[in-house]
Amino acid sequence: MENFRSTRGSERTLRGAQAVIQGIAEDKGLYVPAQFPKLPCSIEELTGKTYQEIAKIVIGAFFNDFTEEEMAHCVDNAYDSKFEAKEIAPIVKAGDAYFLELYHGKTAAFKDMALSILPYLLTTSLKKEKEDKKICILTATSGDTGKAALEGFANVEGTEIIVFYPNKGVSTVQERQMVTQEGDNTHVFAIEGNFDDAQTGVKKIFNNDALAERLAAKGVKLSSANSINIGRLVPQVAYYVYSYVKLVEEGAIKMGDKINIVVPTGNFGNILAGYYAKQLGVQVNKFICASNENKVLTDFINTGVYDIRRDFYLTNSPSMDILISSNLERLLYHLSDGNGAEVKELMDKLESEKIYSVSEHIKEGLKDFYGGYADQKATNETIGRMYKENGYLMDTHTAVAYKVYEDYREATGDETVTVIASTASAYKFAESVAAAIGVPAEEDCFKLLEKLEETTGVSIPKGLQNLDKKEIRHKGVIEVADMPTTVEDLL
Ligand SMILES: *Cc1c(COP(=O)(O)O)cnc(C)c1O
Repeated sequence: MENFRSTRGSERTLRGAQAVIQGIAEDKGLYVPAQFPKLPCSIEELTGKTYQEIAKIVIGAFFNDFTEEEMAHCVDNAYDSKFEAKEIAPIVKAGDAYFLELYHGKTAAFKDMALSILPYLLTTSLKKEKEDKKICILTATSGDTGKAALEGFANVEGTEIIVFYPNKGVSTVQERQMVTQEGDNTHVFAIEGNFDDAQTGVKKIFNNDALAERLAAKGVKLSSANSINIGRLVPQVAYYVYSYVKLVEEGAIKMGDKINIVVPTGNFGNILAGYYAKQLGVQVNKFICASNENKVLTDFINTGVYDIRRDFYLTNSPSMDILISSNLERLLYHLSDGNGAEVKELMDKLESEKIYSVSEHIKEGLKDFYGGYADQKATNETIGRMYKENGYLMDTHTAVAYKVYEDYREATGDETVTVIASTASAYKFAESVAAAIGVPAEEDCFKLLEKLEETTGVSIPKGLQNLDKKEIRHKGVIEVADMPTTVEDLL
């Protein structure tokens, strides 16, 4: 039951519900499964099952302190008609790969896959652990997490949610989605900084013991909706298991065949969920980690040196404009065979020297990964080419993944069946996508959505319709240094 522990060496073990409530460990580490669970059945026995059925089994294997009824409550409330695709995560073949479309939830990005269930996991956890404090969810976002978390937690009793996004660091549609958010418990601020500033600011608030004490006196406890929360990560494992099973059902692979998984990567959560799926028995040949110009992970996978002493670029795949990929810490933990002291040393180095280099042992483990990147020009060219040749519309992030996959194939000749994690609707990044497929620019971004729909015949996701007619409810712009006082004043 007590199967979660910190990446940074603390001996304390927690139940799933406790780890979800805590968000981040007391020693500043992230919670990880101390032991990877075993599925209660073989992967083969999952064939024919629905997304929801597979999700219950996979998430339930990690959070084994939840009863079957509790898990069913969470899964069934999360993955329902909110999703525009009845399969929840359809798989579409286009070009040379299978696209696992993870963006059919309310906010049109893959963050919905985890954030539609996190509020249920959290409220169930609070009940199970008899925690009576009000929970305040703090979230740093590079664009998509913020909206998905706001939708998930809006008007959820016993919670407040505060989101910080980088001013000018998100797309027009992403910003409008957040600032029009309804719900009395929702709060949104632009910060004068980039995503790393927002994420570091939030982590600092979590690690501020004096602030935590003052909030506790008011009956408030902080938690996180970022992928530093294990409750974000575990639900994502389900769709990798699901995609494997569906490929077998379709006859694209035979049970036991290996697949490649390509993930457009920012905070390393999504690709790490794939790695967790492998630990459950999904057969994976390579994890292909795709970055944009902020290619710190490409360099890391190729050299074993993580070096953030470099320029930060704002790109047209803003959800990947990140230099400090939080979840890499979890991979380091697993690859070091659970050596918390080693992980702590690396993370301390990153903070003080902005660079660290991993052991030969960890480097050996990194061989399961291939790292590559695509710049903006290549990204746009790939969107245009895919659309022209196959009539398939990709968003900028998914296009980064596809381009890196093409490079990988060319470099290795590997013909293994490949799944691309398709992380957002093209409409979230309408300006870039329209330009890439030759739809003339519009002054008004929201007119452009309509033109894109007329041209491509792909419907605008429900959550993005009429965004321009909604009332703007959140207007705050603050300095990074003012994040703690902003939180305290609100509460
Ligand atoms: C968040 C996000 C990513 C990056 O995912 P990580 O789990 O942070 O690596 C990629 N694409 C889109 C569209 C996203 O919203």
